[in-house]
Amino acid sequence: MNKKKPWGGVVDPFRLCGNIYFVGTVPASSHLIDTTDGLILIDSGYQETLYAVIDNIYRLGFDPHDIKYILHSHGHIDHSGATAALAELTGAKTIIGKADRPMVMGENDLVYAKELNMDFQYFTPDILLEDGDIIELGNTKIECVSTPGHTPGTFSFFWQTETHRGILTAAMMGGLGRNTLTSDRIKKYHLEKENWRGDFARSLALCKTRSVDINVGNHCNQNQTIERAERLRNGDADAFIDSSSWLDMLNKAEKHFNELIESDPL
Ligand SMILES: [Zn+2]
Repeated sequence: MNKKKPWGGVVDPFRLCGNIYFVGTVPASSHLIDTTDGLILIDSGYQETLYAVIDNIYRLGFDPHDIKYILHSHGHIDHSGATAALAELTGAKTIIGKADRPMVMGENDLVYAKELNMDFQYFTPDILLEDGDIIELGNTKIECVSTPGHTPGTFSFFWQTETHRGILTAAMMGGLGRNTLTSDRIKKYHLEKENWRGDFARSLALCKTRSVDINVGNHCNQNQTIERAERLRNGDADAFIDSSSWLDMLNKAEKHFNELIESDPL
């Protein structure tokens, strides 16, 4: 996927499971959580895919104006690029991990808008997450767990959702990309004094202690979003209910991370 043409990855929106809906695109996942008292959007996508996300929300029968919170897994451009515009449109409150606040406010270049030569409208978050915070709306309580490494303010989310198989645990791991952990990137952005690699290892270990029934990927490759959506369309209502998907994803990430550590020492 060409990151400079993210609109090329438009996807038909769909109900993933329980109160969770996919409204994003292939290069930038966005999920809508339908509570009994309004909507929560997890990650807004690129500014360039804003209209696709708005259209997807309408196509599912929801109204973007009912979004009360825009919650961010982390501050990179593919997760928060459309946030400023969406917040202005909807009046939603924006929420992000405390340590990613400087990046979305433009105090450094770490959203990667400059590197990708893409637009980014910086914004001041309304709510800054601390480890263990609960975001509650209607019948939904989202537990927000600090899982730094991919960025310092990456958060992972855990919540219960009522499904045709009873109440199940859904979760999103907020940042698995090793792209920010390469020695090149660390040197380029002068992050030598940070310990992002150590943080990443600890966050993976922490997530591995959780048991999760519905793995909600913040990128399509984490939970095979597109393939599972196809299974849903073909009548498999359980396509996203998979208690091994979470651990499989984390184990794979850990393997790639260990390979990086070995091949690319700091
Ligand atoms: Zn990222």
